[in-house]
Amino acid sequence: MIGLLLVLLLLAPGLASPLNERQPGQFPSDLRPQLDRLRQAALESDWAFQRLAHLCNKIGPRLSGTPQAERAVEYVAGEMRALGLEVTLEECLVTRWVRGVERAELVEYPDRPTGVEQQLALTALGGSPPTPEQGITAEIVVVHELDEIDRVPVRGRMVLVDHPYDDQLAALGEGGMAYGQCARIRVDGPARAARNGAVACLVRSLGGVSYRLPHTGVLDWEDGPQIPAAAVSEEDAELIASLAREGPVRLRLRLGCRELAPVKSHNVIADLKGSEIPEQVVIVSGHLDSWDLGTGALDDGAGVVMAMQTAHLIKKLGLQPRRTLRVIAWMNEENGTAGSKAYFANHEKDLANHFAAIESDLGCGHPYGFGYQGDPKLAAVLAPIAEALRPMGAGAMRQLPGTGADISPLTRRGVPGFHPLLDSRTYFDYHHTAADTLDKVNPRFLQENCAVMAVLAYALTRL
Ligand SMILES: [Zn+2]
Repeated sequence: MIGLLLVLLLLAPGLASPLNERQPGQFPSDLRPQLDRLRQAALESDWAFQRLAHLCNKIGPRLSGTPQAERAVEYVAGEMRALGLEVTLEECLVTRWVRGVERAELVEYPDRPTGVEQQLALTALGGSPPTPEQGITAEIVVVHELDEIDRVPVRGRMVLVDHPYDDQLAALGEGGMAYGQCARIRVDGPARAARNGAVACLVRSLGGVSYRLPHTGVLDWEDGPQIPAAAVSEEDAELIASLAREGPVRLRLRLGCRELAPVKSHNVIADLKGSEIPEQVVIVSGHLDSWDLGTGALDDGAGVVMAMQTAHLIKKLGLQPRRTLRVIAWMNEENGTAGSKAYFANHEKDLANHFAAIESDLGCGHPYGFGYQGDPKLAAVLAPIAEALRPMGAGAMRQLPGTGADISPLTRRGVPGFHPLLDSRTYFDYHHTAADTLDKVNPRFLQENCAVMAVLAYALTRL
């Protein structure tokens, strides 16, 4: 019983970090002028944009297990060493999934003119197995909700889950919520279709503005059977649904994607040692891997360079953190979170020294403040940090239910988590598509996000 109580106490949120013990009114008197300098320096620097340009334009897409992902690890490690940080490459074993040919044609539908086939815009979902080389041709069953897959006869057929992303919600600034509402369609839809005997599964792309652009992403087989799975553009999902209302529609699908043996990869961990309590760490982070279609500028090269810029600016201004600032470029967030899991396994014993963890993984829109995950009592302790961001229009602070996938093993155990609050209206227009490229990053917004990350991270090392 006592053992159980102990376990429950350890699992209770709000216990793992000394930050939870802080009282309001303990804000160091010399800190505000330092935060003002840091904020201003971030708004004037193009250092982060230059690093992002290198990641996107010189290295390119960084899907886990690829040579590009490893070049990115070396690049970030090198840049952090050049600043004088202590760099560790933390090993993790990542999925190595490769995309191949991807084609789909409508080969039968009501009133089809003789000999006509319509090609669709689609892309394989990460983790999909291939089709046979000649493809799979089958009748399409259109459903709109996950549960429908269990109710309609899908055996021997191809399923299309045609569930729209809520553009209106995204337009209100709640892109993250709009994505959250339909992400399960992509993650769980294919496994459910496979369990019910479908021969392949298509999902409508999850995202805003479409331009016939398919959005890839990860899926979860839950150890069940696997079938070829792909995302079709929103326009093509609507085309199929509209034809299927008139009569039988048959589609030929060819996918050449496949999973190879797992590959050794790395998180980049770069420490700027604290002067007074170096054993306590404040993590500032983004994920270095990306999907393979674009160059991972918004998702999440931007987050990585914001974290790197935090260390760069602190060094440049000659500021001295009391706690250790730990920059992390996570590996494999997109298709496995092996980096996040490896970090947790290696540092679980040291959880009580994790003062706070910051992650940025929602693109690079204009930031208007920061969100925290933890005890609501933290708001009063953090208020002076929000005040220091007010002059740039980023003084909002809000409690969030989650602050990032990579830091979630830490935040679940009571480490306070942080994420910038930012405008996500257009993020899901590009998310996981071929259009996630450097030109989508507004250099001014990147500077603003760097200011939020740097001010927040440095303040947490000094509180
Ligand atoms: Zn991401």
